[in-house]
Amino acid sequence: MAAATAITGGRLIDGTGAEPVDDGLVLIEGAHIAYAGPRQGRDIPAGARTVDAAGATVMPGLMDVHVHISLSAPSDLVKELIARPVGEVAFEVAQNLTQTVAAGVTTIRTVSDLAHLDIAARNAIRNGKLVGPRLHPCGRGLTATGGHGELMPCWLCQSHGDICEVVDGVEAVRAAIRRQARAGATWIKLFQTGGVIDPHGRIDAEEFAPDEFDIAMQTAHMMALPVAVHAHNKTAILRCIAGGVRSIEHGMHFDAECAEAARGTDTYFVPTLTVMDRIIKHGTQAGLADYMIDNVRQRTTQHHEFVRHAYGIGVNLACGTDAGSLLTPHGSAGREVAQFVACGLTPVQAIQIATQNTARMLGVEDEVGSLQAGRLADVIVVEGDVTARVENLEVAGNMRHVLIGGRPVAAEGRALMH
Ligand SMILES: [Zn+2]
Repeated sequence: MAAATAITGGRLIDGTGAEPVDDGLVLIEGAHIAYAGPRQGRDIPAGARTVDAAGATVMPGLMDVHVHISLSAPSDLVKELIARPVGEVAFEVAQNLTQTVAAGVTTIRTVSDLAHLDIAARNAIRNGKLVGPRLHPCGRGLTATGGHGELMPCWLCQSHGDICEVVDGVEAVRAAIRRQARAGATWIKLFQTGGVIDPHGRIDAEEFAPDEFDIAMQTAHMMALPVAVHAHNKTAILRCIAGGVRSIEHGMHFDAECAEAARGTDTYFVPTLTVMDRIIKHGTQAGLADYMIDNVRQRTTQHHEFVRHAYGIGVNLACGTDAGSLLTPHGSAGREVAQFVACGLTPVQAIQIATQNTARMLGVEDEVGSLQAGRLADVIVVEGDVTARVENLEVAGNMRHVLIGGRPVAAEGRALMH
């Protein structure tokens, strides 16, 4: 068995929402955590590798359930999709995966990617060919003709070059879900409304007809595949909750009525605050159209209030950033934690969302997402006290150590090649 590792002297945040513990100890044996708690009175096994975490925070690896691993945060999505042969994209995926773990993100879910490269990445990481996070892939998202996920202009025919499959009609939707499952997807992604980058008004429209939406839910659930849905407006959000969708993505109009409907269900709200913040802060400089920036700016204050309200009444929230999409770098989960704090949550609450709660959404909370004996040792050591300076989580350079299953995968903001 591999020698034990002892991470000592840091401020321990275990991801369960419990108060931080100063002078903590995390003891790792093999891939698992043997102990996490106060150091006092605990013996460190002879021969253990010791990691000094003095002046740092020790916490579970961050999670991001809204990632496009085959996109690299461009200012123009269509241009990026058209410009790169798929072979080149594969190398970018490898780079994006290392950027992800270097920033302390140890688990991701992908929600629409080119040519099933997300599924290939999951397999390559599993087989030890690539360094990367634990990965839950959706494969290609499903979108209706002209839907939010159809990025190619109408004068270019549908090809492998889009991150979505364009499907219309009940049979086509059913078959497309089967195709994702056949390729190895473990989630299904649907685009049900327009988004903030669409021309004015589209955000208020729905895209799949009720019979198409219902057959998607029925087929996915029959196949035991949870569903993530891009949905902004209230009609779509309420349809998602009633239909048993596992996660609602973006949800800029997730108001008190939506929160009431979601409370007590297994539906999670993934507000992707980071991409919205990136568009506001960097959109003009990057040359985004004014209407896109305005679409976000007009809704942001309210979106933050909706998040605070939903959290306050007990709606499940999860951490997703839209990494890879517009102006949003891979490895942004720490930014989302800071955004939750900007909504009025405490750092400990925000970290719990990005670790234990997100793990629960993925159905893996017994394996990862908290520092407890018996869990897999996905652990990060972050410079400083993040309860005092949550923004420390936003900078990869602050990640002194990143471990996945007890194995060091990154240090000082750089991935370690094996
Ligand atoms: Zn997205």
